[in-house]
Amino acid sequence: MPSAATPPTSESGAPSLRVGVLALQGDFAEHLAMLRRQGVEAVEVRTLDQLEACDGLIIPGGESTTIARLLAAFDLTEPLRDRIRAGLPTWGTCAGAILLADDVPGLDREPLGVMDMTVERNAFGRQVQSFEANLDIDGLDAPLRAVFIRAPVFTRLGRGVRALATLPDGRIVAAGQGHLLATSFHPELTEDDRLHGLFVALCREYASVSSQARAS
Ligand code: GLN
Repeated sequence: MPSAATPPTSESGAPSLRVGVLALQGDFAEHLAMLRRQGVEAVEVRTLDQLEACDGLIIPGGESTTIARLLAAFDLTEPLRDRIRAGLPTWGTCAGAILLADDVPGLDREPLGVMDMTVERNAFGRQVQSFEANLDIDGLDAPLRAVFIRAPVFTRLGRGVRALATLPDGRIVAAGQGHLLATSFHPELTEDDRLHGLFVALCREYASVSSQARAS
């Protein structure tokens, strides 16, 4: 019998992990399905209690202005910002990546501002608002088919932020900074779940570091 102090474990024997998806607007359902395929508990996040209970968070694509407005309406902007700054592994896709950045020209709300980078919204213009491309991504051994929908690009990365993928013209479409991941495309809209696998590994790493810190 595990003692009360033993964290719950999954069937594989690894400690079970709860990963949240911010579910205010956008395509959160697809992310939840992808996360479940990784064998983690995947939960919708709309309240502070749900946020507190997560070992990691995905902020999905959608409309960044709408998500920012709803975050404020649900009193989640500050707690979310604090939780991410305190080390919650967080992955923003498309609109979610826009919200992570600290510099977003033209956004009518303050972004979360937790990642030192500038993001240009709708960077591919009106004519080519959606397209797909095979992308080499740092950490994956073969290219990923990436779906771009009215996508942003990351035009400036601050110190400590690493480019993880670029288009052939050099534009940066994925970036990482410690426990943070930002992608301007939508990996949840394909069958390829390798990036979700990488993110879950990141969440697991941070969960084990913080449980060791609590134990010492
Ligand atoms: N263009 C949208 C925005 O600025 C993002 C699009 C998306 O998430 N697919 O918020």
